[in-house]
Amino acid sequence: MKARKLDVVTPHLDVINPHNGETIYSVPEATTAEMDEAFKNARSAFEKTKKMSVRERLDMLLRIKSAIENNAPEIMERVYKETGKTRMELGMEAYTANFLIDFYDQNAEQILADKEIALFAESNTKKAITVYEPIGPVLVISPWNFPFILSMSPAVCAIAAGNPVIIKPSEYTPLCGMYEKIIEDSGLPEHMLQVIYGGKQTGSDLIDRKPAKIIFTGSVASGKAVMKHAADYLIPVELELGGKDPMIIFDDANIDRAVEAALWGSMLNTGQICTSTERMYVHENIYDEFMEKFLKRAGELTTVKEVKPDDDQYNLEVGCINTDFQLEKIKDQVEDAKSKGAKILLGGNEITDVHSFEPTVITDITDDMKITFEETFGPVVTVTKFSSEQEATDLANKTDYGLDACVWTSDEERGIRMAHSIVSGNCTVNNVMTFDAALPFGGSKQSGFGRYMGAEGLIGFSNKKSIIIDQNDAPAEPYWFPYTKE
Ligand code: NAD
Repeated sequence: MKARKLDVVTPHLDVINPHNGETIYSVPEATTAEMDEAFKNARSAFEKTKKMSVRERLDMLLRIKSAIENNAPEIMERVYKETGKTRMELGMEAYTANFLIDFYDQNAEQILADKEIALFAESNTKKAITVYEPIGPVLVISPWNFPFILSMSPAVCAIAAGNPVIIKPSEYTPLCGMYEKIIEDSGLPEHMLQVIYGGKQTGSDLIDRKPAKIIFTGSVASGKAVMKHAADYLIPVELELGGKDPMIIFDDANIDRAVEAALWGSMLNTGQICTSTERMYVHENIYDEFMEKFLKRAGELTTVKEVKPDDDQYNLEVGCINTDFQLEKIKDQVEDAKSKGAKILLGGNEITDVHSFEPTVITDITDDMKITFEETFGPVVTVTKFSSEQEATDLANKTDYGLDACVWTSDEERGIRMAHSIVSGNCTVNNVMTFDAALPFGGSKQSGFGRYMGAEGLIGFSNKKSIIIDQNDAPAEPYWFPYTKE
């Protein structure tokens, strides 16, 4: 595949089709003047939008929803070309932000309403409320694996909370022109939503323009750099970073359902998903039965080896790896594991020509292997036996990540107990990678912090202010001046 390069004479980004390595188009990187202008415009938009009622903001979002719906086929086609996803996984991209809009349409007014709070200190004259106020322009920095969802969903939260948004999409999947089309079709107030194209340096330069908040989705290394940079200006950041998610299957689990879930959880989006199941822990009593079924089903997956990606291949299940560096990382981890004694029970090789990797199942991993602790972000899963609840908990918690997890058992109490003992931002019992617009989403440990979606998704983009109201004719407080012994 051709390397993506930044032309230093006229800075631009080449956007490559992973299916065939061809350059689809080039995007000029934003100039200093364009970045200045975007922030100037966002600040002037904020002067108007901060006075809008919550309902007026939601009406804006409903117009965005219609624009997304009307442009869905084009959004999916653009995502398909720039990421090499399977066709069946494109719908998620186009419609996920709209679920969030529907949730806020029905709930944001209540979530953001002023709340009367009973004061703790006794008083005959005072009362108090808490209010949520918009904060100002929000910078959304997004990655390439779900380019549209991970740009639009944080933007929806920020706009519902009353803030203009500047999106900086990934340099690999900018979907150039798509956001502009949605902005135009939804007839948003000027500069409520803007997009700035560029790479890491552009992201960094945008931070220097001092947004009111940054929501960053990407790798741990970049997240740390963003946070350090934001600290210069004391800009609050929300970091949505990587994962190495565990799936724990007890011996009372519904094995057939767990097999199908493990397959989808580890191979969805060709494993390029932060909440991908990368580590499976299977109880020793069912290990053999589970593995027999899992390997059989994993071996039946339809990949780009059998089905070349073209318009009517809706049965394709494992698509392309989006970028060269990602493919190299997957190959490196698998080779490292192999060289240190891991067993490759299925796959283990690159699918050449179409920039992909075989569905891969690995056992016998040890702590000196990269694959044991590092995020793989590919169609690769490791499987390890366990014998007790405590051992499963220790194994689940042994990496630095803590994004999502799932536990499989017919004993709901045990499922909930395990969900408590696994350190993660999200956990599912008897399902995999299930999220909901009403629930906050985010990570713990090196998977980041902050939450978006749900009520927290609005509160996180608001300034929560406490207001105490006293009576105009209340007497002077006894603790004011003058000080006396009494
Ligand atoms: P990345 O960190 O390389 O880049 C993400 C975005 O940050 C890009 O737009 C990039 O241009 C920008 N960027 C990078 N360095 C920057 C800097 N110093 N200042 C400002 N902007 C900067 O990540 P990626 O390779 O695009 O995405 C893959 C990673 O994202 C994986 O680790 C994956 O787990 C993670 N991810 C997390 C979530 C989540 O919700 N937790 C979701 C999807 C992906």
